[in-house]
Amino acid sequence: MSKGRLEILRGEGGAFEVRAGQVLRIGQGPGGGQVGDLDAWNLHDRREAFHGARTAGYHGMHVTTGDQLWSTPPGERPMFTILEDTVARRRSPRGALQHDVLLGRCSRRVRLWRYGSDTPGCQEILVAAIEPFGLGPEHVHDAFNVFMYTGIDENDRTFFDPSDALEDDHVDLRAELDCLVAISACPGRSSGPAATGLVCEIRD
Ligand SMILES: [Zn+2]
Repeated sequence: MSKGRLEILRGEGGAFEVRAGQVLRIGQGPGGGQVGDLDAWNLHDRREAFHGARTAGYHGMHVTTGDQLWSTPPGERPMFTILEDTVARRRSPRGALQHDVLLGRCSRRVRLWRYGSDTPGCQEILVAAIEPFGLGPEHVHDAFNVFMYTGIDENDRTFFDPSDALEDDHVDLRAELDCLVAISACPGRSSGPAATGLVCEIRD
């Protein structure tokens, strides 16, 4: 897909090109509350990828309309600009906010350790999604956790609450360079109980 629509069911992934100037809309599937783990690379130089820590330095741990998603060296520049974020920016009782750029992704090993579930996590789902593009496990990196509801507690530990994104919520990202994007619709408990997946659309 470099234009069009892609549905990604919970626990599955997808990858596609987004050209500079195109807008990627990431929306909720039926039920709402779905978290997506988004990885992105410069389409022409995959050493340059999304850089969550740099993004947090400029915009904070949670991003919203007007913020930009930054890249690692050798680029170190905006990869995406958030044109629209319909999620109401409301803190949870514990102080969480939406659209996290710092927390690590889940993996088969983490899911086994934490939940006793020997099933693929976002690490494995992203690996499968990028394999057709010639990328491997070593290319998967810390994600932009779109719709993820996270915070830092009084002991300086990160936490998440189930995503409160509604069924009609979406985020629009304008690509600032040609990118390869991979998204995992996270199977984990950071997604709400009714979550079913994400709907991605690309337009000029
Ligand atoms: Zn996950």
